[in-house]
Amino acid sequence: MGLHPFDIPLCIKLNEEDMLHSECIKCNTCDGFPCLLHAKADADINCIRKIMDQENITLLINAKAEKLLTNEEGNQITGVETMVNGELITFSAETVIVSCGAINSAALFLKSANEKHPNGLANKSDQVGRNFMKHQNAAMLAISFEKNPVHFQKTFAINDYYFGDEDFKFPMGGIQLMGKSNRYMLTDDAPIFTPAKVLSEMAEHSVDFWFMAEDLPLAENRVLWKDDQIHLLYTEHNAEALDQLLKKFSKVLTEMEDHIKFLPENINISKKIPLAGVAHQNGTLRFGNNPETSVLDPHCKTHEIDNLYVVDGSFFPSCGAVNPSLTIIANAIRVGEHLLDKILETRD
Ligand code: SF4
Repeated sequence: MGLHPFDIPLCIKLNEEDMLHSECIKCNTCDGFPCLLHAKADADINCIRKIMDQENITLLINAKAEKLLTNEEGNQITGVETMVNGELITFSAETVIVSCGAINSAALFLKSANEKHPNGLANKSDQVGRNFMKHQNAAMLAISFEKNPVHFQKTFAINDYYFGDEDFKFPMGGIQLMGKSNRYMLTDDAPIFTPAKVLSEMAEHSVDFWFMAEDLPLAENRVLWKDDQIHLLYTEHNAEALDQLLKKFSKVLTEMEDHIKFLPENINISKKIPLAGVAHQNGTLRFGNNPETSVLDPHCKTHEIDNLYVVDGSFFPSCGAVNPSLTIIANAIRVGEHLLDKILETRD
């Protein structure tokens, strides 16, 4: 078809050369499920568990950071009020790193407002909570005439339309295979009383694709803390890119009938992921050089508070059209190295 599919990078501990000793066994419940074999290379498995035996590490569970406290000048965090098993305990540290995910990190800043920071911590710029992004995502069930008995489907991606093409000259985003659907997953979106047999047949014959277009930053798309609750205001933005990508790929599917024959274009079922699916949340405490338009500096330290850093998806000023996990990880390593240098400098 003239396209250039490539192996999709996945954070899983897979050794295809020696599957007998591979931690990942390529099962059929990877996408959207926890791994019962601990073979996903996530923060829990790759970072936290590896350092749990260190004397200076304590992991608290059933603990929720409720509020960040500052000194009188408002330029240092002096305490983190934390609810631990129903008891409010205040922790303190030389450096405080917030990493609650883009929505909850912004909410923590906003609910920690005090006299020096009346609109929320580090919020002179009025940027805290703004520019929330989550990608424009959609899933598609392309129904093939033949059965698709695949076990582990999420294997390749296609970026041929990432920057647009001759028909649509603006960036459209990426396409990838997703975890194999089954009849239980289809139940929620099926019309009521759809026979289980129909859903099973559809799942057995489907090839499942995921579409991701960029979500552009919009100041009005924001996290608010009001009436002791998080509010998320969101207006869809850049939806045209996703629509074009879906249209484009539906056409490709119908044109590949010499290789694999799908039902006609209009029968493929695609579903845009609504606001509730905020798996790619980012952008609420964006970084930059200018304190008037950003919350964090280039090292992800707040412009206004000297010992307060953020490492999660909040720092993104824009989000591209790929899963943000690897960028979040790379940035956390970068900030970690910066902090280490800083600590070593003060020791010298
Ligand atoms: S859930 Fe399955 S496919 Fe995913 S990492 Fe674990 S073993 Fe591998």
